[in-house]
Amino acid sequence: MAKKKLVLIGNGMAGIRAIEEILQLLPDQFDITVFGKEPYPNYNRIQLSKVLQGDTEIKDITLNEWQWYEDNGILLYPGETVTKIDKQKQVVYTDKGKETAYDHLIIATGSNPFMLPLPGADKEGVTAFRDIEDCEKMIDASKNYKRAAVIGGGLLGLEAARGLLNLGMEVDVIHIADYLMERQLDHAAAELLQKELESQGMNFYLEKQTSEITGKKRVTGLKFKDGGAIPADLVVMAVGIKPNIALAQESGVEVNRGIVVNDHMETNIPNIYAVGECAEHREMVYGLVAPLYEQGQALAKQICGMNHQGYKGSVLSTQLKVSGVDVFSTGLINETADTKSIKVFDEWQNTYKKILVQNDKLTGAVLFGDTKEGTKLLSLIKKGANVQEYLESQQAGDDGESVVAAMSDEEIICGCNGVSKGTIVSAIKNDGLLTVEQVKGKTNASRSCGTCKNLVSDLLTDTLGDEYEADTKESICACTDLTRDEVVAEIKEKGLTYSKEVMNVLEWKTEEGCSKCKPALNYYLGMVYPQEHEDERESRFVNERLHANIQKDGTYSVVPRMYGGVTNAEDLRTIADVADKYDVGMIKLTGGQRIDLLGVKKEDLPDVWKDLGMPSGYAYGKSVRTVKTCVGAEFCRFGTQDSTGMGIQLEKKFEGLNTPHKVKMGVSACPRNCAEGGIKDVGVVGLDGVWEVYVGGNGGTDLRKAELLVKVKTQQEVLEYTAAFLQYYRENASYLERTSHYVERVGIEHVQEIVNDDQLRAELNARMDQALSVYQEPWSHVLESETTLKDLYQKVTAK
Ligand SMILES: Cc1cc2nc3c(=O)[nH]c(=O)nc-3n(C[C@H](O)[C@H](O)[C@H](O)COP(=O)(O)OP(=O)(O)OC[C@H]3O[C@@H](n4cnc5c(N)ncnc54)[C@H](O)[C@@H]3O)c2cc1C
Ligand code: SF4
Repeated sequence: MAKKKLVLIGNGMAGIRAIEEILQLLPDQFDITVFGKEPYPNYNRIQLSKVLQGDTEIKDITLNEWQWYEDNGILLYPGETVTKIDKQKQVVYTDKGKETAYDHLIIATGSNPFMLPLPGADKEGVTAFRDIEDCEKMIDASKNYKRAAVIGGGLLGLEAARGLLNLGMEVDVIHIADYLMERQLDHAAAELLQKELESQGMNFYLEKQTSEITGKKRVTGLKFKDGGAIPADLVVMAVGIKPNIALAQESGVEVNRGIVVNDHMETNIPNIYAVGECAEHREMVYGLVAPLYEQGQALAKQICGMNHQGYKGSVLSTQLKVSGVDVFSTGLINETADTKSIKVFDEWQNTYKKILVQNDKLTGAVLFGDTKEGTKLLSLIKKGANVQEYLESQQAGDDGESVVAAMSDEEIICGCNGVSKGTIVSAIKNDGLLTVEQVKGKTNASRSCGTCKNLVSDLLTDTLGDEYEADTKESICACTDLTRDEVVAEIKEKGLTYSKEVMNVLEWKTEEGCSKCKPALNYYLGMVYPQEHEDERESRFVNERLHANIQKDGTYSVVPRMYGGVTNAEDLRTIADVADKYDVGMIKLTGGQRIDLLGVKKEDLPDVWKDLGMPSGYAYGKSVRTVKTCVGAEFCRFGTQDSTGMGIQLEKKFEGLNTPHKVKMGVSACPRNCAEGGIKDVGVVGLDGVWEVYVGGNGGTDLRKAELLVKVKTQQEVLEYTAAFLQYYRENASYLERTSHYVERVGIEHVQEIVNDDQLRAELNARMDQALSVYQEPWSHVLESETTLKDLYQKVTAK
């Protein structure tokens, strides 16, 4: 029997998945031809966010290699656009003059990004975020320009913004609604999200409508309807998508918002089907892959003539792919008159969970901070489970069982591809799978957005026990396969002295590195060669480059040094005069016993520092920050030691020391611990004739009690042991690893062993002295350099 001619328009995720399903059902029944406008094989569009964020590369996001098309006898025309469909003759025509006949035609033309029709939208430097080309445009722009504006605070906009931050740009996000991701999150979760992203360096303009993109040939900024304006050298529009229906419409196929299809993915024209983002099913157009893959399954069965129920619509779930931010939502997001909610807000852990219940059934969920329950909630909501079932399943999870062990076989692990726990476990057992990659190849789990990789790994552990060796070797970023320890060892062994050299010699996969490895390499080089290494300021995070913390509204905060939290009348008068002169928005006492001047314009920073005449408090740096002290023996009736004097000595000694992450200290003069040494990186507590030194505490999101390192008698010994601990941490922790994680990871006993060894302690102290010997006070250093003043602090148009 002659093979049927099957033609696919659109070589994207939905169309190719439908073809894969067809090949599984009837491998040899069709002559398949695929036309794809983009010049690549089918790639994972979702992973473009990760490419931009520097976690992966374009060459690694291909889903079906060229060879796959060949192996399956598929004729692929990449870079060729179908321009016309003749539905009577059953022929399609392309922009390269090709005519191809079909028996079955699948339209999978996806969507086009929606570009706001603003004056200036056609300028150089304005882009969407939809395909490889857009991604490359942004990466290129980041090499030559500094300021990016992302219009749209939805999922795509925030992922783009995170990517641009990673590329070293300063990023403003402009959003029309009063909170972020309003279609996927409620107000509470969005606020937590905004706070987290602000701490990562994003700057938000909410309830703002852009009225114009300014500039001559290239964009230079944005104007808002309310009269404000901001500068920008790159504008990314991430305001939504429009189903790509023009071809179908011009060819007489019924369209509404998308190409109208029934449950069998059939259009109104015989033998023409539509699937993916271009299709409209029961008045719904989807923009996530999970429903598109479900549509593909139904379509494959239809084309292969199998009996099936058809596609009935999907319950959606969303996960944001921004490192350090866990957000999940599914189903109903906001309360209605007939919903009840289960809400848990854990302020310590910074986690939020809301589950909505309607007539005793789970109907929606929003998770922030801890999204482990996401897949379980999605399955329960999909099957219309009762709230009781959820509560019971939670109890099972609380009994010490792992999350995956407590899941039923039907529960979905991979939301994008609809792969259940049962499917994965039987594939592991029956096909002898041993790695996440093998599970991905066999079942598709984790093949799309990749957020379920950890669950797949847990399932491997659960099923294989000791046989499964998780790949724990973690490279410092996607630019290299080398771990932190391997890179540091190579730097020492090969005598590498600057970042570019490290990248070249160690065969980095990217020419320029990324925002993860660049600051890390700069730190490691400075740690290995404290006296020789010339700080590569351009690879530092923006706050460190500018020596001030950027605030929500684009202004900066200035925190002068106040050793041990002690000040005097003269300094206070100077601070007050500066605050008046520069119209400082707010004067605030910080938790570290200092004074913060908030709302300083960037161009005023150098003058503010000059007028203050005080050293920088380093409130923005990965370095020793403050030493908080209690009043101590001199004034407090419980005090047994001079805590203030001790704190001042510590702060003066370690001032400006570069460390893998920020380091905070506290010194108290009795166990009442008013300076909170129990939650500091280094906490010192004075007792009668004794000083206790604690390390590895944290009072932030990962609350951790500091552990006792040593008890000593003199202030000199406190300085000596603290120096040994900090130097050992500097030499062995990963960049951006707080002491709390580091001590937890290596164990306090190990650190004690090192610092209690007299010889090692003396060597660590000697290396610490070398590191401290090169300190230059940063504010006065900037004031001495005309070029830095011009390059970094020149006046820009502010809001
Ligand atoms: C940056 C980014 C992040 C995302 N993150 C997620 C996520 O985390 N989770 C999730 O579920 N989804 C995510 N998505 C959405 C997901 O990628 C899309 O839903 C999915 O790719 C749509 O598949 P499709 O095949 O319908 O369309 P597409 O993948 O757009 O494929 C359509 C293809 O058809 C081609 N084409 C159009 N017209 C013609 C023609 N006339 N002739 C020939 N070819 C034509 C197009 O060029 C395109 O290559 C993300 C999207 C982006 C851009
Ligand atoms: S820690 Fe002790 S000595 Fe210091 S202020 Fe508090 S009570 Fe007084």
